[in-house]
Amino acid sequence: MNEETVALYLKSIEDCYLKELPVNIISIEEDGYVLDRTIMHYEGGGQPGDRGQLLIGDNEVQIFNVIKRKNRIVHLAKEIVEGKEGILRLDWERRYEIMKMHTLQHAISALLYDKHGIRTIKSEVYKGYGEIFLDKEIYNLEDDFYRINEMARDVKRYSIQKENLNASLLKRCNLERLPKSLTKVSIVEIDGIDKCACAGTHVKNTSEIGKYWLRAMGKKLEFGKF
Ligand SMILES: [Zn+2]
Repeated sequence: MNEETVALYLKSIEDCYLKELPVNIISIEEDGYVLDRTIMHYEGGGQPGDRGQLLIGDNEVQIFNVIKRKNRIVHLAKEIVEGKEGILRLDWERRYEIMKMHTLQHAISALLYDKHGIRTIKSEVYKGYGEIFLDKEIYNLEDDFYRINEMARDVKRYSIQKENLNASLLKRCNLERLPKSLTKVSIVEIDGIDKCACAGTHVKNTSEIGKYWLRAMGKKLEFGKF
């Protein structure tokens, strides 16, 4: 049996906005569900796992995290209800806030690289807050770092074959960090600002980010929703 879960949010930026989805249950583990497809992001790549519910018949099963375990995407549940199909419903309010912060992180990392040659080593985003860890120190940021929402740039997502990737296409991204097994890579592009390989979820336009604060503290930069 094919136990690969299709993660719909990887297909396009529009698919990052799916809030509910009919699913087939491929297998049930002692702590969660493997589904044929999902709208929930699994923990990793600097973005937390999603939360929500899996509706099976009259039962509403709480999904408290999504993880990847032995190549399977597992929707972790506190209680297991048997079933073959259901409706997956996302905690959208939380996820949308994470999408805003993740998009903001891409733009900040791109500006840091373009203006100062500073690379992002690692980043973490949460609901309404994020952190970026850098390879060099910075304390003062130019005005455009604070205007990413006002710039109202469109965001696109598309896949390209791994062999067509090259360092000049994705300047700031470390391609060495991509999993070796990957054949197609999901690219997230912020118009005129950034292109990066990423498996997370993002908003369609930077205007959706809304008002935010930003603080550079040497090799660490913090940002969050006002
Ligand atoms: Zn991303």
